[in-house]
Amino acid sequence: MLMQGTTEVNEQGVLEIGGVSVKELRDSFGSPLLVYDYQEIINNINKFKEAVASYPGEAEIIYASKAFLCRGIADIIAKNDIYIDVVSGGEMARALSGELTADRIYMHGNNKSEAELRTAITEGVNTIIVDNFYEAELINRLAREENSVVDCIVRLIPGISAHTHEFIRTGQADSKFGVSIKTGQARELIKWLVGRDNLNFKGIHAHIGSQIYDVTAFKELIWVLIKFMIELRREDNILVEKLNLGGGFGVPEKSEDPEVDVVKLVGEIAQELVESCDREDYPLPALLLEPGRSIVGSAGTSLYTVGSIKEIGELKTYLAVDGGMADNIRPALYGAEYEAFIANRCLDEEDTEVTIVGKCCESGDVLIEDELLADPEPGDILAIPATGAYTYSLSSNYNGLLRPAVLLVYQENVQVLIEREQEEDLYKNDCKLEI
Ligand SMILES: *Cc1c(COP(=O)(O)O)cnc(C)c1O
Repeated sequence: MLMQGTTEVNEQGVLEIGGVSVKELRDSFGSPLLVYDYQEIINNINKFKEAVASYPGEAEIIYASKAFLCRGIADIIAKNDIYIDVVSGGEMARALSGELTADRIYMHGNNKSEAELRTAITEGVNTIIVDNFYEAELINRLAREENSVVDCIVRLIPGISAHTHEFIRTGQADSKFGVSIKTGQARELIKWLVGRDNLNFKGIHAHIGSQIYDVTAFKELIWVLIKFMIELRREDNILVEKLNLGGGFGVPEKSEDPEVDVVKLVGEIAQELVESCDREDYPLPALLLEPGRSIVGSAGTSLYTVGSIKEIGELKTYLAVDGGMADNIRPALYGAEYEAFIANRCLDEEDTEVTIVGKCCESGDVLIEDELLADPEPGDILAIPATGAYTYSLSSNYNGLLRPAVLLVYQENVQVLIEREQEEDLYKNDCKLEI
């Protein structure tokens, strides 16, 4: 059983998160649930803070909010004095719906609309990550119209990729994000930005992928970026003040997955950067990191209620839960692997092999293939740990399923972060037939 954060089994053999038993949670809030462990989120943030403390230059931790965003999460980001990145007007509005102020926001995206950019400028976001020429001209015009000077970071295609799944790899040469270093477009764009009165070139950005477990890919990235920075200084006399290395720090989603020591990994990244800058006599840029999954992934646990259990002869036993690909599409979308256990009576003898499926009308609605559970019965609570990232944010109402309630637990207290969806939510935007 993957036990992260404050998750533990109490004397009655019931799983507790933040000191609250999952039975209590289901009795009070229903099923299914996505439960976040507040202490674990804070610990994850603090690991990044501790890690960059060893860096002699400035450093900023920017939470990649696409992993999971709601008002309460934005409030946590504000309270902990870190930054947040958003990729759309929708994420920006949600980030700003609570205590977080616009100067904490980095605006990303490969096709930001004019309206989104104008809002970003008038709200006063910290920085816009510029993806391409078209967008650079658009931002320049809007900044002029709004009488603003906009801080910009340019997204680069570094031409390398971390060894992860194809769908979550973004640094390769044919990426849809950013401008290419190799083709010379990156330099062209930066030179153009530097010549604009309403734009303020601050630095460069690259993100190579997700679920990265060691420093190798980051070292390669730093090397590529430093070479580019030296060229930019030598040829164009332009200095990079902020170096944003993206996110992608790995998070275990099963007991067998490697643990990533964030403090060590980020420490190695910082050291590599310091050494490279020393060697090249380059003034240390601010180091920016954008962890998403590694802030919230380990803090979330999905709780379902077991429904039908069906043996197909000798072939297979299906165990169905009251959720599925609508609330966690990652297994179906890109083969993410989790583990599960019966959480209302945690036993060591897990010897019933089942395939855990959801209630959607798709054969691909499988949460976990061939999982061993301890004698599961209808009505049991099934827990899937490490589901805090890219589950709710990728969720849908497929088959009319309602999104679960999202809870935050801390020291025996529980609060609702997002209310359970209601049936009315499914049709509140529907219009009556008028033709
Ligand atoms: C998705 C993304 C991140 C976060 O990735 P994680 O794997 O969740 O850490 C950071 N930066 C950019 C630009 C991204 O697209």
